[in-house]
Amino acid sequence: MQSFDLAVIGSGIGGSLISALTSKNTHKTVALFEKDKNLGGCATTFKKYGNFYNAGATTLVGYEDGHILKKHFNTIGIIPNISKSKIAIRVVQEDKIIDRVKDFEAFLSTIEKTYPNKNNKLFWEKIKQIDEKFWQLQHIYYGKYSFKRYLKTTFFITELLKTFQFDIFKTAQGFIKATLGDISKEYQNFINAQLLITIQTNSKDISLLSMALGLAYPFHDVFYVNGGMGSLIEQIVKDIEVKKNEEIKKIIQDGKNYVIQSSKNEYKTKQLVLNSSIYQSARLFENKEIQNYYKSFSFSDQSAFVIYLTLDKQYDFLEHYQFIYKEFLPNCISNSFFVSFSKSDDEVLSKNGTSVTISTHTKANFWRYLANYNEIKEETQEFIIKRFLEYFTSLKKENISKIHSATSFTFNRYINRYNCGGKAIKFKNITELPSCNTPFDGLYNVGDTVFAGQGWPGVALGVDVLNKELNGNS
Ligand SMILES: Cc1cc2nc3c(=O)[nH]c(=O)nc-3n(C[C@H](O)[C@H](O)[C@H](O)COP(=O)(O)OP(=O)(O)OC[C@H]3O[C@@H](n4cnc5c(N)ncnc54)[C@H](O)[C@@H]3O)c2cc1C
Repeated sequence: MQSFDLAVIGSGIGGSLISALTSKNTHKTVALFEKDKNLGGCATTFKKYGNFYNAGATTLVGYEDGHILKKHFNTIGIIPNISKSKIAIRVVQEDKIIDRVKDFEAFLSTIEKTYPNKNNKLFWEKIKQIDEKFWQLQHIYYGKYSFKRYLKTTFFITELLKTFQFDIFKTAQGFIKATLGDISKEYQNFINAQLLITIQTNSKDISLLSMALGLAYPFHDVFYVNGGMGSLIEQIVKDIEVKKNEEIKKIIQDGKNYVIQSSKNEYKTKQLVLNSSIYQSARLFENKEIQNYYKSFSFSDQSAFVIYLTLDKQYDFLEHYQFIYKEFLPNCISNSFFVSFSKSDDEVLSKNGTSVTISTHTKANFWRYLANYNEIKEETQEFIIKRFLEYFTSLKKENISKIHSATSFTFNRYINRYNCGGKAIKFKNITELPSCNTPFDGLYNVGDTVFAGQGWPGVALGVDVLNKELNGNS
């Protein structure tokens, strides 16, 4: 039986980064298992009908000095093939256009024209400052199940308190009210739609800190990944042993080791990192205690509805748009959708035209038990495409050469997860969040269902904590 020092199950952002960092920094033997033929999970790029599409993630944030993601890339020794987006996101809300650009004064002048408020500057400056301070914190950590880990978590909380003082206790909604007053429903919708894509929730139950991290996303450089998001994942894991198309079916504790049984073989490992969703990992284990541990995390019933298009030729649109409406989209839990176009010079995504990924939020369980699944899916797809074509008047239905969509059901089929996007960190669930360590020796978690949350920045932060747990301070 082949054995490893570390086996990682899942090649999402989290699984790929931790495999590469461990392999680079230590003498451990590392193997990365991926059930799908494509690497990257929600950040993969896949091929269908001869065309390439980004499955979920299309924007990359965090490749900047002082940011943990750039530090990981430097340690692994990769320079990503990325281009900076001049306008991070063009937000279209009815007849209004708000460009989310990095330049603070330029953004402020747009927001002031769209939603005039005497305290706009105060509000958005605070959002930016809090976000900047957060990324300068030195002791970000979240661990459980031992005195030493609780102590380190307390140390991090102390740093948070010292850095943010009373701001740490402020709620998002309270801060909006105190600075901007009673804002219009449209302004609130604008704020909420941005938060839904970055931190998976609206401003209702979250802290000012969470809101700041969510709203400040486009104050960072936002990058387009040339050749598809999946090509970056391939680059991250290029020097390690990757076992694609190999699903882990069963995990058995064997003394201090874990025996992992895949669709092809059986292996032994001293340390095991699960990048599979925390909500769907219980079934992998025979041990009842471990099963119960994974079952203890309540499911986050939120997922994505994604439409993939190929347009007949290369078009020069911006890379990202967000459309916000007054009403929810049919069968969705959002009044907005996010559109990403491939750049015309992208040799992979734009080879046969323009590749488009359109996504919005839905319940995860909604799609699982539908009798008329295809009909409902068609209804949502048609509604979004109608709105899409209403805005991009240079496009007609005939310019769409291929169209297909994905629901939570599709995500589960390809990457073993119904839920997408993890669980937003709210006041009431902060202590229930899964940490990267578990109560079981040698067993760890990584990914967006674990602290510190979703997307490149959130998952990279979780990877940093895990890297220290697994490999010391290397
Ligand atoms: C529609 C959508 C749009 C998004 N847009 C952005 C964006 O623009 N920018 C951004 O930064 N983030 C974005 N995100 C969020 C981001 O994509 C995710 O937070 C991130 O990719 C999750 O990474 P992860 O490490 O949790 O791994 P996951 O993506 O969950 O991948 C886990 C991997 O594990 C594999 N796996 C599971 N079980 C097994 C098993 N038993 N055996 C072997 N392999 C297994 C799966 O096949 C999968 O490849 C988006 C997400 C979605 C859904």
